Amino acid sequence: MSPRPRVYKTEAIVLRTMELGEADRVLTVLTPRLGKLRVIAKGVRRPRSRIGGGLQPFSDVQLVLAVGRTFDVVTSSTLEDPHLGLRNDLHSTAAAWYLVELVDRFVEGAADSHEAFRLLAQALAALDAGPAVERETVARWFELALLDAMGFRPQLGLCLGCGAEIEPDGNGYAPAGGGVVCPVCLAATSGGRPISTNALKVMRHLQRSPLVGVLRLRADPGLQREVERLLHATLTAVLERELRSRDFLVEVASREAAAAP
Ligand SMILES: [Zn+2]
Repeated sequence: MSPRPRVYKTEAIVLRTMELGEADRVLTVLTPRLGKLRVIAKGVRRPRSRIGGGLQPFSDVQLVLAVGRTFDVVTSSTLEDPHLGLRNDLHSTAAAWYLVELVDRFVEGAADSHEAFRLLAQALAALDAGPAVERETVARWFELALLDAMGFRPQLGLCLGCGAEIEPDGNGYAPAGGGVVCPVCLAATSGGRPISTNALKVMRHLQRSPLVGVLRLRADPGLQREVERLLHATLTAVLERELRSRDFLVEVASREAAAAP
């Protein structure tokens, strides 16, 4: 790996912030090419700070960073888009927090970040655009798109068990397996549960559509809840597996470090 330059620039979306000491702020940001970074903005809370504004959750910023010992240091920040609409409305704020938290939990390495960045920027912009947008639909679309981007695209066309083409009715869904199973395979699938014809339709539609194509898509509340529950179960299964393997990697690394001369 070639060493990073002492000062570098990147676009970033602020995911989380934490106030530190009297005037500093630690930021967790998502970048398009460098993955998720923890950086520090020193003195940013002082009235005459020269760093620049916009270092708040959901903001899209251009950062200049200097390599630091623990955290890299923000030397300047230029606001691209504050996504103000996300702060003025409680429902939009809650929806935006959810997207940001999901990205925060999923993305670690730089390899993951380009597509996740693009999706998050799109979804935040959509929520920011106003109340006519179906927030629930944006969230479901985002979950499916993020799963896809991270290599966990749910299989909605072929049975996970036997590979047969899925017919419209009587199917099951296996969150841990990541997709649908046919009526025959459902009984033998652990954790499999029924999926309604309409829920499958909605999920397929969301999976193959760009966000602009679904912004005003509204399902009835029962159907909405079903899709939400199926996707929530999928995300939980994927994250549990991922976190376990990440913990394992961290443990291996720390043992190796401890064993090193
Ligand atoms: Zn089958």
